[in-house]
Amino acid sequence: MNVNKMEKIVALCKRRGFIYPGSEIYGGLTGTWDYGPLGALLKKNIKDQWWKAMVQLRDDVVGVDAAIMMNSTVWERSGHLEAFTDPLVECKICHQRFRADKKQDLEMHEKTHKENLPAGRQVEWTAPQKFNLLVKAYLGIIEGQQSEIFLRGEITQGAFVNFENVVSSTRVKIPFGVAQIGKAFRNEITPGNFIFRSREFEQMELEFFIKPTEAEGDKWFEYWKNERINWYQALGIKKEKLRFRKHRDDERAHYAKFAEDIEYEAPFGWSEFEGIHNRGDWDLSRHGLSYVDDDGKKFTPWVIEASGGIDRSLLFFLLDAYHEEEKRVVLKLHPKLAPYKVAVFPLLANKENLVSEARKIYQTLQQDMMVAWDDRGNIGKRYFAQDEAGTPFCVTVDFQSLEDKTVTIRDRDTAKQERVEIAKLSKYLLDKLQ
Ligand SMILES: [Zn+2]
Repeated sequence: MNVNKMEKIVALCKRRGFIYPGSEIYGGLTGTWDYGPLGALLKKNIKDQWWKAMVQLRDDVVGVDAAIMMNSTVWERSGHLEAFTDPLVECKICHQRFRADKKQDLEMHEKTHKENLPAGRQVEWTAPQKFNLLVKAYLGIIEGQQSEIFLRGEITQGAFVNFENVVSSTRVKIPFGVAQIGKAFRNEITPGNFIFRSREFEQMELEFFIKPTEAEGDKWFEYWKNERINWYQALGIKKEKLRFRKHRDDERAHYAKFAEDIEYEAPFGWSEFEGIHNRGDWDLSRHGLSYVDDDGKKFTPWVIEASGGIDRSLLFFLLDAYHEEEKRVVLKLHPKLAPYKVAVFPLLANKENLVSEARKIYQTLQQDMMVAWDDRGNIGKRYFAQDEAGTPFCVTVDFQSLEDKTVTIRDRDTAKQERVEIAKLSKYLLDKLQ
């Protein structure tokens, strides 16, 4: 296990402003993380790329943005009140609680007691009990008469409860999808591996409604599996680090007829970050919803779901982009995901004509993309800082720029430099960012 790489990523995230521990000044809040200036940009870029691929470029998908707080009946009908549970066991020595199905976590914990146990004695665990993951909240203005609600445990249900609204207010016809991005909350027993398993997280999900037959189900399941793994690859994740894994019968969620995960080979092992599920008619029939086709035939559609974790994806994009070279650490993020697309430097911070020319270029480029500004230290140090932030291009304004109206552009991955006319700079960069 390459724990070292995880430690380096966590340190880089803190140092450069990608991700901070949640509520850090008050000792933190377990299972929560805050995104800093670079992290917020990276996360937004992931979401924008997902929305573009899943909604903007498609005729058969529309987007929704449902409320986090929902009528509790939703969770009763969806089966989450009954079945959205993890098996919980408690260590009889120190009363810490763990998930019974995470054998590695249990073994790690058992080791912490090893030295204090008499020879031959093992750590004992309580029998597993069901632990519901939904996070409770209370709504209402009269103390004592508030109603208990749940923060959504998956964003999915927002697509189902609005099924009839979407069908009647748009022109969609089966097969069609409803896409959504948003926060979900789970009372995870053991949050861990940085942002991989947290209690508050963001999902990007497609619910794709189809005719209720096995053949349609298989066809669209395969289609979305391939669409989704291709999306990650197109944004730079190495093919050999990705795989599909079929769910065993005993691990499938209560709503799934069939499920496969897209997994990434993280330093802590192959890990799920997007699930492709055939939910059958579980949800729509539980909510009592149906569809009438053009011939007047009424039926309950099936659903193929592609459910991705944004925080997990972000972690894997970072891990995959992280490179240590001889003299530098470089995040080779896909230009579409990079927080800043370009950095602009005046060669010297104390030469007013250089600074004002660089400032003009900076402000022009800002119209089209996120631009970083740096006039501290020497050029080498500025390159080093931008490499670590994943900025694909650096532009330096030097004395030659004042004479011939060209600048130096330096490429993050190759470290090669070329001179480009200032007038053509925007177009040059926009072409490279495609
Ligand atoms: Zn213990």
